[in-house]
This record gives sequence, structure tokens and C-alpha cells, in this order.
Amino acid sequence: MKSDKIGIKLEKAAGCTVTWDRYMLDFYSVDASSYKLKPQVIAFPRNEKDIAKIIRFAKKHLIPVTPRGGGTGLVGGALGKGIILDMRNFNKIKIGKNHVTVGSGVYKGHLDKILQKQGRFVGPDPSIGPFCTIGGMVGNNSSGVHSLKYGSVIDNLIEVKIMDSTGNATRLQNMYHSIKSNISQDVIKSFPRVSKNSCGYRIDRVLSEKDVHKLIAGSEGTLGIITSAKLRTYKMPKNKALCIIHYKTLLQASIDSAKILTLKPAALEVIDKNITRQIKMKIPNSGCLIFAEFDNDIKHSIKQIQKITSGKIIKVESNKGNIRKLWSFRNSALAFSLRSITKKETMPTLIEDSVVPVKRLPLLLNMLDMIEKKYHLRTIVYGHIGNGNLHIRPVLGYKDISKIQKIATEFFTGVIGIGGSITGEHGDGLARSEFVKTQYGDKTYAVFRNIKQQFDPQNILNPGKIISDKKTMIKNLKI
Ligand SMILES: Cc1cc2nc3c(=O)[nH]c(=O)nc-3n(C[C@H](O)[C@H](O)[C@H](O)COP(=O)(O)OP(=O)(O)OC[C@H]3O[C@@H](n4cnc5c(N)ncnc54)[C@H](O)[C@@H]3O)c2cc1C
Repeated sequence: MKSDKIGIKLEKAAGCTVTWDRYMLDFYSVDASSYKLKPQVIAFPRNEKDIAKIIRFAKKHLIPVTPRGGGTGLVGGALGKGIILDMRNFNKIKIGKNHVTVGSGVYKGHLDKILQKQGRFVGPDPSIGPFCTIGGMVGNNSSGVHSLKYGSVIDNLIEVKIMDSTGNATRLQNMYHSIKSNISQDVIKSFPRVSKNSCGYRIDRVLSEKDVHKLIAGSEGTLGIITSAKLRTYKMPKNKALCIIHYKTLLQASIDSAKILTLKPAALEVIDKNITRQIKMKIPNSGCLIFAEFDNDIKHSIKQIQKITSGKIIKVESNKGNIRKLWSFRNSALAFSLRSITKKETMPTLIEDSVVPVKRLPLLLNMLDMIEKKYHLRTIVYGHIGNGNLHIRPVLGYKDISKIQKIATEFFTGVIGIGGSITGEHGDGLARSEFVKTQYGDKTYAVFRNIKQQFDPQNILNPGKIISDKKTMIKNLKI
């Protein structure tokens, strides 16, 4: 069926706004990833009833449904070729004492402002800042700079409401026994022991009936449409100190990171020379910088870090306003990276989110070094070094893009061999779904497939993400 026919029929069936305007379709064809995939229509459901009608329509006509929040995802998770559900109307916020219940379409920036007035915040803080939504954060099991102390979404998710592929609100607890019956010790062992993980379905966190909702964190809209989520909130720390340290090499920084972690920093981040060179501040333009923030036992930690570090401390800042400014250098790492490449180059998001145990970071960097030499590759590196989660962007000429499948396959095999996960916080999306089986092995993948089948037997919900028989990494690259 053509877009206009679907649009007219869907508008009638669901009653909400539906558009198939050419420019709107172009807009929703892309997100912050390296992919492009044109949908047929975009729908703006107002409530659960609208979603139910849309899902029933999609099932009847076998049209895929992909939910979308802010579209800031880096792996094409919110791109789909059927109906895009723009969740902006799910915008209610209910503040509790130590938690908040939020509509999935609420932008994090809006929530932050409201919580700030109460002196509180939600833990996971993606560097994209205000522009992502709660639905997208849960969908990707997002985390951020302060996840070292406050965890990823999965660690903070108290409840989640979803509409399933039958168009009904699911009682997730009812699914517990059928989910759990598939999960053997072998399956649990196939999960890497890392501090964050967004690859596949997080059945390793479904330990009791009370935990079934955790399965939705990182499910990328493939098991249901999230309408709201209840998240833990934290009291803002009274004082903070940020320590910026220069290292000559990433290797040296990674070895020291394991030591700095003993001081329990709230954040431990890294940016490499490609980024520091773009920052207008008196800092060395070689090597890399580590940002270590402490919000507890501050004086002691600053004293200790001076003893521990083999790098050069170039700044210790305790003024909150100045700390915010300094963090903006780290949070803008992606924008600075883009400034560091030429018009003839591109830096696709494909191997940008691996995570390994921090002590094994030197192995990861060694492996990267070998790949760089083999493929004559330059990379840009930044990210959550305290979590062992590095954002590695390969810089490629447009002509060289065909190399990426080989590079990614070798890189992911190495990461898995080191005991890591191919994605720590960005999800599998179009970039990595074809590697989920390699990550976990046949047995665990069969369990994932079974879960998808239970939730979505007709494969209507964001098909091709997480569970994929097709190779999608290269196919829809927009470069
Ligand atoms: C500059 C930059 C920095 C970033 N930094 C970080 C970072 O530090 N940490 C981090 O984790 N991520 C980071 N990201 C990635 C991204 O911003 C986050 O993953 C973010 O949480 C995605 O939110 P979104 O609303 O944009 O989701 P979208 O991109 O719209 O969607 C993401 C996924 O969630 C699904 N989804 C969306 N809404 C729903 C819903 N209602 N129900 C079910 N599924 C849904 C989508 O189908 C898709 O699979 C960064 C991105 C950029 C561009």
C-alpha cells in the first residue's frame, strides 16, 4: 500500500494526527545515526486508545510500527519503513518523594528543570542533554557521565507501562514464568560481566516477578510501546569537585582509571587529542584528558588522586558553575569530533559503544591499535572510561566505507573475546543487531527470539532491531 492510502486509512482508524507529507517523511528518515530509512507515515497518538488502534491497524495490514522519541539515537533504532509513532503527546509528569512517573514522550531537559526545583535529578544523564526523551532512554537503556555512580536506566527503572502487539496494556508480571522457564545458568553465563550493557534483551536482570519490567530497558521498541516509566530520583549533591588530568597516552589513562575508581568518583570520563585540539582553553593538544568528579569525601579524594595519578593534574575546580562549563567540553565531544574531520571524511556510528571491564581497557586499546595499523585507520576516542565504555569513531574516506564491515567484525570479535559487550548504552539498532547472536551465542539468542515471539508473534514492533536474520549494518548507511 502507498503512503497516502495508509495515511488516510490510519487517520480514520486511529483518529489521531497522521502525516505522509514528503518533508515530514524525510525528517523522520534520519536520526543522529549514520542511517537513513524512509517511513510510510508518521502518527501522533494522543493516548493509549490511539496506540491500540494503530497497532491493530498495523497488524491487519502487516505494517511495521517503530516508536520514536527525540531521534537522538546513534544506531538507527528509531528508523523504520512503516509507521513511525511520535510519542510527544505522552507528556505527563508526576513527582513522588524519591521517584518520578514520566510519560515516555517527555524530554529529559524538561524533566530536569522540574526536578531541579525540588533539588533532585534522575541518575542516567546522556551527553545529548535535554534533547532525548524518557521513552528513548528506556528503549536504549541509556546512561551517561554520572552513571558510574548512579547507574543506567535499568538500575533506576521502578515500573514501566507498555502497550503490547495485541494493542493492550501488558501486565508484565504475568509474563514472568514463561520468560524465566527459558533462562538456564548457561544463558546467564553468556552475559558479559560489565558495568553497563545495552545488547540484546537484559534477561540477566529478570531475577524475580518484581523485575520483569527491567526486560523493557534496552528493548528498543521491539517488545512494546512504552507509555510511561517510573524512575528513581536522587538528591543533588551539596558540593562537587572536578579534577582534569592530562595523560600522554590513552593507555596510560586507562591503566590509571582502574586506580582512580578506588576513590569512588561520581564520574570518570575521557576525551582524546582530536577533541582537546578543538577546545578553546589552555590545554595540551596531544594525549588525552581525564575528567574525574567527586561529590563525596571531596577533600580526601582530591588529595589521594594527586598521589595515585601518573598524569599531570591541570585543573581542580569546585565552583558548580565552572564545573558545568568544563563538563560542556566533554559533553560536546561528538560535535568537536565532527570539527576534527575534513569534508571528504566521515565517522560512522558502528563500533562507537563497546564496553569492557575497566582493568581490560589496555587490551581493548591494544586491539584497536592493531586494527588501526592493519586498515590504516584514524580513530577518535572519548567516553565513559570509568565504566570501560569507549566511544570509538573510525574516520574514513567516503570511498573506504566498504572496509567498515570487516573492521566492525574484527573489532566486535575482539571485544567479546575480552569479555565485553558490543554496546554499553546506545542499543543494537541497524548497526549491531546482526551481531547480537555473535555476542551471546546460539542458545541465548534462541531465548531472545522466543521472548520476541511471545511479545510480538507477528513481528510488527520495530522489526529487524535486536532480532535480525538480515545484515543491516551496511544496507541503510546514508553515506
Ligand atoms: C551528541 C550525542 C550524545 C549522546 N550521548 C549519550 C550518552 O552519553 N549516553 C547514552 O546512553 N546515549 C547517548 N546518546 C544516544 C541517545 O541520545 C540516547 O540513547 C537517548 O536516550 C535516546 O533518546 P531519544 O528520545 O532520542 O530516542 P530515539 O532515538 O527516538 O529512540 C531510541 C530507541 O528507543 C525506542 N523508543 C523510543 N521511544 C519509545 C517508546 N515510547 N516505547 C518504546 N521504545 C521507544 C526507539 O524505537 C529506538 O529504538 C547520545 C547521542 C548524541 C547525538
